[in-house]
Amino acid sequence: MVALDMGGCMHRGIIQHELNHALGFYHEHSRSDRDNYVNIMYQYISPGQVKNFDKQNTNNLGLEYDYASVMHYNSFAFSNTSGQPTIVTIPAPNIPIGQRDGLSVLDVSKINRLYQCNVCAYLLNEKNGSLTSANYPSAYPNNASCVWLIRTPSNQVTLNFAAFDVQSSPNCISDYIRIYDGPTKKDPLLLDRTCGTGLIPPIIASTNQLLVEFSSDSSVTGVGFKATYSSVQCGGAFYTPERNFTSPGYPNSYGPNMNCIYTITAPVGKKISFMVTDFQTEDVKFCMYDYLEILDGSTWKGPFCGKGPFCGNYKIPSFTSQGNSLWLRFVSDSRVQFRGFQASYKFGEYYSLVFIYS
Ligand SMILES: [Zn+2]
Repeated sequence: MVALDMGGCMHRGIIQHELNHALGFYHEHSRSDRDNYVNIMYQYISPGQVKNFDKQNTNNLGLEYDYASVMHYNSFAFSNTSGQPTIVTIPAPNIPIGQRDGLSVLDVSKINRLYQCNVCAYLLNEKNGSLTSANYPSAYPNNASCVWLIRTPSNQVTLNFAAFDVQSSPNCISDYIRIYDGPTKKDPLLLDRTCGTGLIPPIIASTNQLLVEFSSDSSVTGVGFKATYSSVQCGGAFYTPERNFTSPGYPNSYGPNMNCIYTITAPVGKKISFMVTDFQTEDVKFCMYDYLEILDGSTWKGPFCGKGPFCGNYKIPSFTSQGNSLWLRFVSDSRVQFRGFQASYKFGEYYSLVFIYS
């Protein structure tokens, strides 16, 4: 709680100063490194007031000493001798201190750092565009905490990385990128904490919104990342250990002229247990018009032959992948639509099992 005296404290800078104490900040001239920036003139301070000039073991949050801080005393604070300052700035004695107009730029930065707020936040709302980490292609800053909200005018956002170099650490606890399938950190993950070097595979969100989070700690950096975004009509690129997904609009009709690509990628060494839980498309011979096809591998050159095309009410058998990836395509023509498909998958360690279907 902060109580303020009506008599002299109802000024913005004073209110902000007191609230900043409540947020956990000491006076700027009490910082652990203050002796490099100010000299305290003890000879002009009454003994009873000396505690106001005690140095504290402060967390300076990696930000420089701030003469312009709303938390800095003025030169004559608690002086017992008229005209004699109690604080003298270094290197020159005439640097202004003690302003109470309001929070300085660094005061704001300090609050954001202490409370780990995303001070670096961007909205990207064009049809397509690009994003990079700060300072790219130079090293990104320490203690970065940034988000990019990508909101394309329609369809589904797709994000393609052109470069990726983020300090590697076990479980990416130090520096990492994380991508959410929606506009907030409460949305499901498209890509969990990722670090290291090498390319991140293409990302496809399930809607027109996607959130990219980037965080760095206080040491060792890389050059960061560069990516471009645009949108696709349908499809998905999945990296999380399990999820359900459907054809566009499911359980309503999937719409005409769809060509949707879905990729599922497990970590190397894992396999994918895959299941279609509901399926209905236009039913014609050879599945010429609307169909789902599945490749056990990431492309047509994958390690195993394709499955499908499937159409009509065909009961697609469940199976486990041979390798760590699956590739699916859902196609519709211009006429006659049904509800499409609903599918689910799960990563796992499986014994080698060849699924034979006819
Ligand atoms: Zn104070």
